[in-house]
Amino acid sequence: MDFRFSLEEENFRQEVAVFLEKEGPKEWQKKKVSFFDMSGQENWIAIHREMSQKLGAKGWLSLHWPKEYGGQGLSPFYRLILREELAKYHCPGYHSLSVDFVAPAILLKGSDELKKRFLPGIASGEVMWCEGLSEPGHGSDLAAIESFAKQDGESYVVNGQKIWTTYAHFADWMFLLARTDRQAQPNYRGLTFFLVDMHTPGITVNPIINMAGHYDFNEVFFDDVRIPKENIVDSINRGWYVAMALLDFERTSDLGYAIAGTLLNDIVECARERDILDAQNQIRMAELVVECEVARLTHYHVTWMQAQGKGTTYEAAACKLLGFESIQHVAEFGLKVFKQFGLLSDKSSLAPLYGRISSCYLRSFGHSMEAGTSEIDRDVIAQRGLGLPRLR
Ligand SMILES: Cc1cc2nc3c(=O)[nH]c(=O)nc-3n(C[C@H](O)[C@H](O)[C@H](O)COP(=O)(O)OP(=O)(O)OC[C@H]3O[C@@H](n4cnc5c(N)ncnc54)[C@H](O)[C@@H]3O)c2cc1C
Repeated sequence: MDFRFSLEEENFRQEVAVFLEKEGPKEWQKKKVSFFDMSGQENWIAIHREMSQKLGAKGWLSLHWPKEYGGQGLSPFYRLILREELAKYHCPGYHSLSVDFVAPAILLKGSDELKKRFLPGIASGEVMWCEGLSEPGHGSDLAAIESFAKQDGESYVVNGQKIWTTYAHFADWMFLLARTDRQAQPNYRGLTFFLVDMHTPGITVNPIINMAGHYDFNEVFFDDVRIPKENIVDSINRGWYVAMALLDFERTSDLGYAIAGTLLNDIVECARERDILDAQNQIRMAELVVECEVARLTHYHVTWMQAQGKGTTYEAAACKLLGFESIQHVAEFGLKVFKQFGLLSDKSSLAPLYGRISSCYLRSFGHSMEAGTSEIDRDVIAQRGLGLPRLR
């Protein structure tokens, strides 16, 4: 067991750091605000897109893809290093929904034709995707989704509704799970995974503002939306298997520990400047450092498994659970440290870290729901890791 990164990996980290310091959004770096804090704010989408294309031009959005599909054939640890540095430098541009959700699913389950059509746009950072899985009443119970795609000649015609669709308001494409067989038993055998152009007539996107005041997600309606049958990934009624493979990648995409670790460092630095760190806070801080470290090592383990081509199920769930809950715990700590000042938004000059404490705290509740809730993660660990029966 060797806990060090290789010399090449360390050199890559250095190259990324130099690039991000120069090319990252200056205002964000000065204020130390993150991707999540800025969402919904002026120019946010334009900055995200611009940075995405810069990362794409460096070839950094396809680092670990096979060379035949435009990747560099590197280990997934390069992707992890890139994302650690992006968190450290408060840089947007890494559109996980494209790079880490749909791209691996296409690589694993898509035809050669789909790979050639869709992967270049993701690698260049020009084409952005959103995820159409959840429906009202069918989030954890994903297998029961009702949006229906009916075959009509060479196309499928979709009717139904999706909800919590992150970034549907600016995404170019959606990966959509829809029912194609209402009689299938068990019900998950009647689902199909489609790739949908968001400009297709019949798609309506309505905003949902979250409690932090950010505009991240939407409800999306489909009224007779026509999708060519060549946009099916894998084959008809095999969508569940594509979605499950995708979810394992989704759970290990965002580096919760890196986001939490950066926030913790910034909180400590700001609290030191204001001279408000007491003994109790220091003890809690030490606990949080350990928590982030455990999340980091769990993520490294899963990345190592991915590098070996091993499947990850309960390990991916553990990774998401630890990383995302560590963000929640650090955000909560921020509120304790700064007391009433932590509640202030960026509109107040008295707010620590430009209002990031309250913004992160309010946004952090979503972290234990997105990509599958923490309860479902615990259930996956209990069932797949420990061989225990389903919770419900
Ligand atoms: C910030 C954010 C972004 C999101 N982005 C997207 C997106 O882009 N695309 C998309 O399709 N979806 C998205 N989602 C939706 C997300 O996947 C769902 O919220 C999640 O799967 C939970 O589903 P639900 O909201 O229907 O809650 P429910 O499934 O109704 O769950 C309600 C509660 O019951 C618990 N529960 C449910 N079933 C079980 C069980 N079997 N055992 C134990 N406890 C259980 C849950 O843990 C939860 O606490 C997003 C959600 C958030 C918060």
